[in-house]
Amino acid sequence: MIRIADMLRAVRSVGLEDALASGALSHAYIIHAESGGGETVSALAAAMVCAGAGSRPCGQCAHCRKALSGAHPDIIYVDKPDDKKEIPVRSIREIVKDAAVLPNEADRKVYIIRNASELSVSGQNALLKVLEEPPKHVSFIIAADDQSRLLPTVRSRCVELRSAPGGGDDVSGSGDGAPGGAADLVMEFFDAMDSDALAFVRFTFSLQNQDRAVLAEFIDGARAAASARLRDEALGAKPRRADMWRALRALEFARDYLQANVSAGHIAGMLCAELLPASGR
Ligand SMILES: [Zn+2]
Repeated sequence: MIRIADMLRAVRSVGLEDALASGALSHAYIIHAESGGGETVSALAAAMVCAGAGSRPCGQCAHCRKALSGAHPDIIYVDKPDDKKEIPVRSIREIVKDAAVLPNEADRKVYIIRNASELSVSGQNALLKVLEEPPKHVSFIIAADDQSRLLPTVRSRCVELRSAPGGGDDVSGSGDGAPGGAADLVMEFFDAMDSDALAFVRFTFSLQNQDRAVLAEFIDGARAAASARLRDEALGAKPRRADMWRALRALEFARDYLQANVSAGHIAGMLCAELLPASGR
C-alpha cells in the first residue's frame, strides 16, 4: 500500500501536477525507471482511473483505493517472465487485443509495462499499433530504465517523464510554472495541429515564454516525430489530418532561426504563420 502523500510527491517530481489537476493526461507516458519509477507509476495509474472531483489522484475514491492496494481490475501490469530474457511479443499482442475491450469499472484501462527495456523490437512494433491509434479508454505507462532501447517511433508517441532528483537532472524545466518539458510540448504541438486554429495559436503563443534550451529540445523532438510520421505514412499507415511535410519544413526554419539567435517570440510567430492554414482555419 502506497501513501497518497508519497504519490503526490512522486507526481510533482516529474512535473505532472498541472496535467493531473486539469485532467489533461496524455494517453501514453514513458517513465524513466531510475527516477524512483515505482511511486510515480502508481500515482499516475491511480490518477488515470480516479473518479475524484478535484486534483487527481484524490486518494479517497474507490478507484484510488483499489489502485493503491494494487487491486484495480483496470490497471494491468505487463512483466517479463522470470524464465525469459525478454517480454514476449505474445504478451504485447494480448494487450493489443484486450485494449479493444471496454474497462471493467473505471473510465479507462491502464496498461503498465514495467520494464520496457526488456521489450524486443518486434514487441515494440506490436505495441506501436495500439499507441498509434489507441482506443479512447486506453492509457499506457511504459517504465524503462534505458529509454534509448525504445524505438524512436514508440518514443515519439509518448510523453517522456523524468524526475529531477535533488536538482540534478533538469530536463523538463518544470516547477517554475512552465507548462511541462520539451516532450510535452512535442505532444501539444501535434495535438494542436490536429485541432483547430485557435488551439494552434494558443500553443504557439505558449512557446514565446519557453527557455531557449527547452525550445531547442522541442524543435528537435518535433522534427524527429514529424519525420517518423512521414515515414509511417510512406509505409502505408493512415495519413493524419495535419500536413507533416509542412510541419517539418516549418520546424527546419525554426531550428535555423534559433541558431541565428532569433527570439522565441519571433519563432513562435513564424510557426503560427507557416502552419495555421494547415490546421483547418
Ligand atoms: Zn480518486
